[in-house]
Amino acid sequence: MSNNNDDINDKKNIEDNKNKKAKSDAICYLCRRPESVAGKMIEIPNHIHICADCMQKTFDVMNSGDNPYMNLIGIPPTMFNINTGPKVDSKKAKGEEKKDNDVAFDHKKLPLPHVIKARLDEYIIGQEHAKKVISVAVYNHYKRISFRAPKDVEIEKSNMLMIGPTGSGKTYLVKTLANLLDVPLAITDATSLTEAGYIGDDVESVISKLLMAAGNDVEKAERGIVFIDEIDKIAKKRNTNSRDVSGESVQQGLLKLLEGSDVEVPVGATSKNAMVPLKTINTENILFICGGAFPDLDKIIKARLNKQSSIGFQADLKDKYDNDANILQKVTLDDLREYGMVPEFLGRLPILFTLEGLTREMLVKVLLEPKNAILKQYKGLLAMDEVELVFDSEALEAIADKALDKKTGARALRAILEESMLDIMYEIPKDDNIGRVIITKDYIEGKGVPLIELRGNLKVKDMANGEE
Ligand code: ADP
Repeated sequence: MSNNNDDINDKKNIEDNKNKKAKSDAICYLCRRPESVAGKMIEIPNHIHICADCMQKTFDVMNSGDNPYMNLIGIPPTMFNINTGPKVDSKKAKGEEKKDNDVAFDHKKLPLPHVIKARLDEYIIGQEHAKKVISVAVYNHYKRISFRAPKDVEIEKSNMLMIGPTGSGKTYLVKTLANLLDVPLAITDATSLTEAGYIGDDVESVISKLLMAAGNDVEKAERGIVFIDEIDKIAKKRNTNSRDVSGESVQQGLLKLLEGSDVEVPVGATSKNAMVPLKTINTENILFICGGAFPDLDKIIKARLNKQSSIGFQADLKDKYDNDANILQKVTLDDLREYGMVPEFLGRLPILFTLEGLTREMLVKVLLEPKNAILKQYKGLLAMDEVELVFDSEALEAIADKALDKKTGARALRAILEESMLDIMYEIPKDDNIGRVIITKDYIEGKGVPLIELRGNLKVKDMANGEE
């Protein structure tokens, strides 16, 4: 009997021990490792166990800055640091990272000014002076980033101010440049900017755009290019008593960025709000290029020149500058100040240059010569249908004349061509016999039809009537 009782007690003990072991060997809810492997568990309500590793991982994610909810509830990230290892000085780490990257931006790969200019020549017609200035400025800018300057020399940032009529290639120049240097580019319109707190984008939104263009890579964005177009639209408003939130205040707001400062920008959005994580970008090495048409600036320049030339022995004819096509090239900082640009703003754009308005000859070249010229594109498209597209020289001049009438520079060319080419691109693929299409001046001016030549015997066909 006692033997029997002993047996029962033994079985009970074994069962109890098994239960105890099972209880103590809790399993981590996240990584499924038992306590005997993963170490002591933290028990949270509903009998859920989490191992220390998984807990730390969770806090690391929350601390990483990519967690939008941290900003929302206002908890400092360090509160979650249960790391027992040595603390990392994030600033120091960033500094070291920067040094590494300084080396990573290989100055040997940096194209020399004449090489940059030659590449720009492939796409941009005319604007020789502008291309030269921009090539040198960009080369110096990236050299300044890549090398450490001698101790006694402080190399200024090469931010630029570009003045030129609409459609003269300002945006195109900057886009081509960013492309060939393989740096991110953000283009923004100064008219959309307002002083922080007012309806519109605040000035820092341009840096968010750059970060987006750099695929949220901070280091890449910090070496990018920002192009602010229509900068003349933020000239100080004259004779106004109300607060100038989209003019002078925007110029003031931009000063900090142009000079170089740390700005906190939202990731993946252009406006800050509690749900969007922020990243800090230093604008010190970002190249800012501002551009504008500055309408009526020529009047200010003329007035100054006339005033100068009508005094003393060098007195000149009053209308000497009235027909000077290149009057904008004589611009000075004083003229721009009079136009309404704030002196401090101008001071942060040390490189000033102008682009010329495109002449008829230049417009014809724009149609024909750049690597991606519009005519080359149309010719290429029709060549795929084995049809040759020919523009006679008078037709090209007629297109240029039409563009000149629109007063929007080369911008008008594409629209004019698209209008003329629509019927051709629609009709030609219908007929396999067509071998060549000749665009004439009459066709461009809406007075005639294009000449169509058939394959083989190259007969001329009247496209409008289908007659041969
Ligand atoms: P804006 O000076 O107003 O910024 P853009 O650079 O936007 O003018 O020019 C509009 C388009 O006209 C460009 O995309 C480009 O195709 C063409 N274009 C303008 N200027 C030139 C130029 N000098 N050479 C070649 N193409 C040009």
